[in-house]
Amino acid sequence: MWERLDLLTELANEADAPSLLSVARSELPRLTEGWRALLAAHEPDEKGNCPECSGRWRQQKSPCAVWRAAYEHLVAGGLAPRPARHLRSAMTRARRGAVARAH
Ligand SMILES: [Zn+2]
Repeated sequence: MWERLDLLTELANEADAPSLLSVARSELPRLTEGWRALLAAHEPDEKGNCPECSGRWRQQKSPCAVWRAAYEHLVAGGLAPRPARHLRSAMTRARRGAVARAH
């Protein structure tokens, strides 16, 4: 798994534009799907706890460490300027649809 990530980093730094474009087309959807699956598993339940990180005896309040790390990388770290509010809710709907289809 680490090797695969290293390979992608290497490609991002060193591949020429046409190869990078083709790698991006095939790999970006896989990465976003991975994030979606991960975030879906760590989405707060109705009590505001993370179902994935909560144990039998100890509840983990959301946002858990996984969710916070994802937020840091995807939002706070600034992948792209934040979309306008109406776009964001459309994206949330699209995301939920994608997650529902994936299950
Ligand atoms: Zn969690």
